[in-house]
Amino acid sequence: MAGDGRNVAVIGGGLGGLAAACVLGARGHKVTLYDKNAWVGGKAAVLHEGGFRFDMGPTILTVPRVLFRIFGEANRNIADYLDLVRLDPQWRCFFDDGSRIDLMEDIPTMSAEMDRFAPGKGAGEGYKRFQEIAAHLHGVSDKFFFWKPVEDLFDTIDIKANFSPSTMRDVISLRMGASVAGTIRGKVKDDRLAQMLDHFTQYVGSNPYASPAVLCSIAHMQAADGVWYPMGGTRAVAEALAKLAGELGADIRTGVDVKGIEIENGAVRGVRLDTGVEAYDSVVSNMDSIRTYKELIGGEVGARMERKGYEPACSGVVLYLGLKEKYDHLAHHDFVFSRDPEEEFEYIYNKGEPAPDPTAYLAAPAVTDPSVAPEGGEALYVLVHTPYLRPHHDWSKMFAPYRQKIVDKLKRTAGLEDLEERIVVERHLTPQDIHDRYKVLNGAIYGLASHGKFLGAFKPGNRSRQVRGLYLAGGAAHPGPGMPMVMMSGWIAADALDQDAGGAQVLRDAS
Ligand SMILES: Cc1cc2nc3c(=O)[nH]c(=O)nc-3n(C[C@H](O)[C@H](O)[C@H](O)COP(=O)(O)OP(=O)(O)OC[C@H]3O[C@@H](n4cnc5c(N)ncnc54)[C@H](O)[C@@H]3O)c2cc1C
Repeated sequence: MAGDGRNVAVIGGGLGGLAAACVLGARGHKVTLYDKNAWVGGKAAVLHEGGFRFDMGPTILTVPRVLFRIFGEANRNIADYLDLVRLDPQWRCFFDDGSRIDLMEDIPTMSAEMDRFAPGKGAGEGYKRFQEIAAHLHGVSDKFFFWKPVEDLFDTIDIKANFSPSTMRDVISLRMGASVAGTIRGKVKDDRLAQMLDHFTQYVGSNPYASPAVLCSIAHMQAADGVWYPMGGTRAVAEALAKLAGELGADIRTGVDVKGIEIENGAVRGVRLDTGVEAYDSVVSNMDSIRTYKELIGGEVGARMERKGYEPACSGVVLYLGLKEKYDHLAHHDFVFSRDPEEEFEYIYNKGEPAPDPTAYLAAPAVTDPSVAPEGGEALYVLVHTPYLRPHHDWSKMFAPYRQKIVDKLKRTAGLEDLEERIVVERHLTPQDIHDRYKVLNGAIYGLASHGKFLGAFKPGNRSRQVRGLYLAGGAAHPGPGMPMVMMSGWIAADALDQDAGGAQVLRDAS
């Protein structure tokens, strides 16, 4: 497939960097991958403590066809690497008024469930209409946005076809100027159900009131492609990709912090390590894209990227609670919602302070995978989104009182009254830890926010316009954060590099 085999450095072994390494290896390029940490997988890390096993970062896996495509590049059968289990109900939702509903995959089933939950409001019919919009936006995203290197609106549209009626129809149907929250509330007239649907934008760490309607497509991706659990935890995804990359010849070097990218006459020449410069034809950076430009390149190129004013996505606090006894009323994935979504999002995204009454996401994986805990126990994972780091945030002081707020919320709203008595192991991660462990922008979990009702979905492109031979992959590059999207960004970066090296154009059909 490949033209010239390139000698490529991949900076960072997050899921985006690993995906890029696999695709480049499959296309005949020589890959060396560096990660500053002792493990690869980046945020998809694992914690073993006292007989419990916790996924430390991502827990919800959606859109598995991205993984299928990456393994397909190497003609491998994914079943030989990963055991994926489909989860339905997808989420169990606990509301502040004591009511509960399960989010089911099947749209007619969910619609009937919504009518039972909120009778007389047309909620079921509204959900069907919302999912129709989401399906359409998903289709438009597939056509213009996914599987290709995009930086701005011009990259998405073939200018020659710009005025064709079908393209114009697609652009208009993007509902530019409308927000996710507005689109949901236009169709679903129950506050609790609207709050539940808002939370698809939490997959990308963004405010549903400020995010463009096109992000409603996430709801359809989840309904159409399901929610999956890789046996062994989401960590198994990182391990499967690292295994594949190794089989395809990648040299994976952990514990190596890349200090700079060497550039000559506007083109990549190598990477700078503590031990000196190593020469490469091309670089894929899986480090945060803004920090790549600012810290690894610097000068006017770095300053220009900073001036673009990209905003970090939210951060979060994670509690890893080893419980001696699991809770039978929890599903694998649970949301324990705040009393007021507008107040919550106002605090996190506008005021830049932790929400006084937050939403907590829980993963209780023992129901699917009892190996996460000693018999009868649970490796309970609790994630609460917080603002990205501001200069006055000192989480060494903020953590203890906020942890108590979270525990009180779980007792009050999720029926975990005796939570503290069941805890036998406890660890945590703060926004500052996330910042330091993964070299992200201001502690952001999900790269860059998707704020801006018109152009909020655009991120720095995968083929650098500033430096020849530099490609970007990861949550702060196109198409954005979350496991499927960062792996897609790795595929896109590798595909762009391969095409620039004379590789054959690969069909853009993800199915
Ligand atoms: C708590 C939490 C919960 C999440 N929940 C979900 C979820 O349920 N579902 C979901 O889909 N997504 C979730 N996400 C988001 C998802 O984990 C990320 O979007 C994704 O894993 C990021 O992948 P990445 O490719 O951007 O790389 P990262 O994971 O950010 O890894 C980048 C790697 O690059 C390394 N690096 C950076 N700079 C250098 C350098 N100069 N030299 C060497 N190495 C360097 C870092 O050490 C790191 O290992 C969650 C994230 C967190 C933290």
